[in-house]
Amino acid sequence: MSDISEPTPAGFSTRAIHSGQDFDPTTGAVVPPVYLTSTFVQDGIGGFRGGYEYGRGGNPTRDSLQELLASLEGGTKAFSFASGLAAEDTLLRAVLTPGAHVVMGNDVYGGTHRLVNRVFVPWGVTLDTVDMSDVDAVVAAVQHKETAVLWIETPSNPLMKISDIAALAEIGHKAGAIVVVDNTFASPYLQQPLSLGADVIIHSTTKYLGGHSDVLGGAVVVNDIELAEKVGFLQFGVGAVSGPLDAWLTVRGIKTLAVRMERHSANAQAIAERLVGHPALDAVYYPGLSTHPGHDIAARQMSGFGGMLSVALTGGASAARRFAESTEVFQLAESLGGVESLIGYPSEMTHASVRGTALEVPENVVRLSVGIEDVDDLVGDVLHALER
Ligand SMILES: *Cc1c(COP(=O)(O)O)cnc(C)c1O
Repeated sequence: MSDISEPTPAGFSTRAIHSGQDFDPTTGAVVPPVYLTSTFVQDGIGGFRGGYEYGRGGNPTRDSLQELLASLEGGTKAFSFASGLAAEDTLLRAVLTPGAHVVMGNDVYGGTHRLVNRVFVPWGVTLDTVDMSDVDAVVAAVQHKETAVLWIETPSNPLMKISDIAALAEIGHKAGAIVVVDNTFASPYLQQPLSLGADVIIHSTTKYLGGHSDVLGGAVVVNDIELAEKVGFLQFGVGAVSGPLDAWLTVRGIKTLAVRMERHSANAQAIAERLVGHPALDAVYYPGLSTHPGHDIAARQMSGFGGMLSVALTGGASAARRFAESTEVFQLAESLGGVESLIGYPSEMTHASVRGTALEVPENVVRLSVGIEDVDDLVGDVLHALER
């Protein structure tokens, strides 16, 4: 495994292309190869080349991704996994014990809530969900018990609520909790939670980091050596590692993260502005709109507002379903963060697992993952579908 990555002075886009990506020393290949191997020859028993022994413990392609992720998030160490939820599961095993208390937003990713509520709670963990934009409610929730983890997701899914990372990190730390930020929606290009006081970053690299809807993956980034050791042990000891080809595809996606996020943000802003006041809509949820309740905090803690937006339809559930099924450039599919635009109906797709809970999404809400196609085509597609 590679050493803890050195802090690099280079700018974000330079690091996105070069961190952990040294050319192949044997051939000079500019792009480091995919090491499709499960094991490594030893020069005599215990004579490991580059420290590599067996693929679950370490693989050079996985290391190149991990070094890249640590560099982009400003962490000391990153660990990559087979999916975002595998990353979350491994982190939670590292920081929770039976009896531990978790506080998370009442609008976190449905799968995150399901993981804690249906897997960890039966093992003796307790969970409270609160409105993360209500600071008093968060203070009350973390003081109520010995809270081990404060879990923040901002912008949240699908209503694009913004939480103040720096303020919440202070509250969490006062209560003795580890402060985790799921940075999937913003990506490290737009938001740097460790610099705002968070302890751990979670990613579904399936989304913006991979960026091309062709690979699943997840990551944990930490800035504490002791926690790095625990997560590193569990990555090896539990084994939900990312495969070499998945890691390589994710690295390839990350190289263009900066330019993609610029275009995602510009396209989403244009669509949001065009949709404000549309007669078919009750609300447009996009933090780049000055009328969004989290706009000021988002402007302070993010360097752009991202490519995700949601709308609430005046005509209720049936109008929302019809809209989600009527676009042509926006394809009806779960997931987000790829170059291609996607549309989804959260209450029956991404958030079906939280129906009937406090995390339920209104039935008139439709979510757009705005891609990097021509903005006129995207605006036209949305307006045309709303007319139907
Ligand atoms: C998709 C997603 C996850 C889960 O990641 P997978 O790669 O699907 O396991 C976690 N958090 C957020 C915000 C997500 O969008």
